[in-house]
Amino acid sequence: MSLLTFDTAIGYRPTWVEISEEAFIFNLLQIKKYIGNSVQLMAVLKADAYGHGANVLAPIAIENGVDIIGVSSLEEGIALRSSGVKAPILVLAGVFPLENFSVAIEHGLTPTVASLEAAQQLVVAAKSVQQPILFHLKIDTGMGRIGVSPQGAIPLLEWIRTQSAIQLAGVYTHFSSAGEDRDVSAGQLKKFNVIKIKVKELFAHKVLFHSANSAALFSIPESLDDMVRPGIALFGESLISLPKAIQLKPVLSWFSKIIYLKRIVKGTSISYGQTWTAKKDSDIATIPVGYADGVSRKFSNRGFVLVQGVKCPIVGRVTMDHMMIDVTGVKTDIGDVVTLIGRQGDEVISASDCSSWAETISYEIFCNISKRVPRVLVS
Ligand SMILES: *Cc1c(COP(=O)(O)O)cnc(C)c1O
Repeated sequence: MSLLTFDTAIGYRPTWVEISEEAFIFNLLQIKKYIGNSVQLMAVLKADAYGHGANVLAPIAIENGVDIIGVSSLEEGIALRSSGVKAPILVLAGVFPLENFSVAIEHGLTPTVASLEAAQQLVVAAKSVQQPILFHLKIDTGMGRIGVSPQGAIPLLEWIRTQSAIQLAGVYTHFSSAGEDRDVSAGQLKKFNVIKIKVKELFAHKVLFHSANSAALFSIPESLDDMVRPGIALFGESLISLPKAIQLKPVLSWFSKIIYLKRIVKGTSISYGQTWTAKKDSDIATIPVGYADGVSRKFSNRGFVLVQGVKCPIVGRVTMDHMMIDVTGVKTDIGDVVTLIGRQGDEVISASDCSSWAETISYEIFCNISKRVPRVLVS
């Protein structure tokens, strides 16, 4: 076992996240097999690889055939560079303020340009260096977040062509409803196609086109383009049902231990606000993990954890640093392992199970596991 984050927490408070290297590589290779050799693969490792640990997963991704790493911010890109990642890194979010393009250049990060002003500022920053600065242009075909409008893209592309300090390396867009609405995605692809034709007309060199996130790459064959940009699929989760040929393995498991065990009599209430009261004499265990670790307060009286292979309900409100579970009838003791996300015997609690209790998506469950919980890489 090697530590992904600080090691001082291990051995004191019993809670930790295990990241399975085997599962991560398995998912990568599944995606690679699915897209084939002619399509490049970007591993989207933004938000510390959706809470899994980008510094550790980026080199594993590169070793296993990933071409480019996607991050959200300059900070995330710089962190990967500091940890020794040499591969191309695309910063997906817009750079702001625009003077920060010089930071991207300084650290060898490929920026996204999403407006004429941004392109102009990139030229200013690029003039201080010898070789042309590579960048990707973002087109807004319907997501409505950042990106040049398809109409605005045409004159912008014509202007970019006249600028020798910068070089258009990629053009991309992002789906608003991949896996939810085929017609919406088809409409976006149609707009993107017009841009592609124009780019091919204007530029003699190879420009990389990309549009597909996880849901799109598995549900919209026409979206594969030159490269795909999966994030969540790398971690074994999906918002859509996957094609039959594809299996993904959950990469992250989350554990704790029972630190306190008590028998309470019928009528006893548990936690703040007394929202749960024992209907019969019960065994209640305390787990030293709470909302400060990323267990949503919405799990209160709704969620479950695994103890001795049995699903045990979370009773009463989740507190900042603890929660209580009902282990009545389970043969358990202080020190027993509690699985918050993962498998025990035949029982599994997935990130999507957690997301349904919290009325969110697995992405948010992952991202909310706080830095207070050490990540451990297991093979
Ligand atoms: C986050 C993100 C992705 C990856 O999305 P998943 O749904 O996790 O596969 C791809 N492209 C862009 C622009 C993103 O912001």
